Amino acid sequence: MGGRALGDQMEDRGTDQDGRHVLVAGGAGFIGSHLVDALLARGARVVALDSFLTGRRDNLAHLAREPRFELVEADVTGPLPVLPRFDRIFNLACAASPPHYQADPMHTMMTSVVGTHHLLERAQADGARFLQASTSEVYGDPEVHPQTESYWGNVNPTGPRACYDEGKRSAETLVFDFERVHRLDVRVARIFNTYGPRMRADDGRVVSNVVCQALAGEPITVYGNGEQTRSFCYAADLVDGLMRLMDRETSPGGPVNLGNPREMTVAELVDLVTRMTCTRSAVVRRPLPVDDPQRRRPDITRARDLLGWAPQVPLEQGLEATIAWFAKEIRPPEPAAVPGLGRFVGSRPFQPTEPTVGDLARGPT
Ligand code: NAD
Ligand code: UDP
Repeated sequence: MGGRALGDQMEDRGTDQDGRHVLVAGGAGFIGSHLVDALLARGARVVALDSFLTGRRDNLAHLAREPRFELVEADVTGPLPVLPRFDRIFNLACAASPPHYQADPMHTMMTSVVGTHHLLERAQADGARFLQASTSEVYGDPEVHPQTESYWGNVNPTGPRACYDEGKRSAETLVFDFERVHRLDVRVARIFNTYGPRMRADDGRVVSNVVCQALAGEPITVYGNGEQTRSFCYAADLVDGLMRLMDRETSPGGPVNLGNPREMTVAELVDLVTRMTCTRSAVVRRPLPVDDPQRRRPDITRARDLLGWAPQVPLEQGLEATIAWFAKEIRPPEPAAVPGLGRFVGSRPFQPTEPTVGDLARGPT
């Protein structure tokens, strides 16, 4: 399913990964599985390690007969299984969607802290280069706009998002301590909202929710007044940025923002998806989640300067691919294969009206 979904948009830049042995923790997830594909396409031997908390075997099913690929089931919070020696370690293991990471906040925190520590120790033992998938959430509800890497952030350390935000901040601390103390070769990518094929229909983030709701003709959920902003990056662009960051011969000496600087309100995103899917779905308002950041846009000057990287895929093009993928993924039955009229059969979109542990953390608007 979706085996080479992003292949056409991936620019083949070089062969730094040729023959290298690479570990991708979180490799069965949305971004991780695209990264695995990109690494294999460039000649690497890849092990994906995943607990399948939010990732799926389906994301990697097309690699079942790939001799340079291996899938290992393990939770990074526990001792790591016996693995070969690696040249490169990417740590993407962590649920990334607010309802998912808030469902078991203690495990989320431990994944970022204990899990990252396990992988760093592994990198140190192997002499491997290490890349940490950090997040724009380290900036919290930012008072500086757009967000530069030098901004220290505005995070509520005791709120429902803290398990993720503070977990990722602590992980960054560990990574840079390993650099200072053990001279480990490290890189930290602060990833801003990324979307694309292989997101789960029940992921709960705004792009997957809005697209799936629009395709199903179900009410489109807008949290709060919809005036909060995000900047959406297509997965192929993000994976290219992660590869460039890992490939760079010298350490960038600090974190690097990776994201698309095109900022828009949630209401504008909903309008765009509504037009692109020709849906008849109505918009329904839901309470704004506690501590929901009001504005977010990356300053990508460092990524441009250090990596020669900038996003290439316009939002409309990325959404087109994402909509097409979800239309197949949720498989509307015949004859209702018309956008906006289909019903879900297999997976279902995340329904914020259904009570979940994540919902309990949400307060009034
Ligand atoms: P995802 O949920 O699809 O992928 C996360 C993967 O990690 C899943 O396969 C999951 O099963 C695995 N995982 C979670 N906890 C684990 C554990 N304890 N042990 C082993 N595996 C575990 O999410 P994604 O969007 O692909 O995000 C990938 C990474 O990028 C995450 O670290 C996330 O924090 C980071 N990130 C993503 C975004 C985004 O917009 N997608 C933004 C900022 C940061
Ligand atoms: N959001 C929304 N409707 C949804 C899901 C999310 O309005 O069905 C809002 C959410 O409140 C936030 C923005 O969209 O303001 C982005 O949410 P997402 O969960 O995708 O990412 P994050 O908040 O982690 O940036």
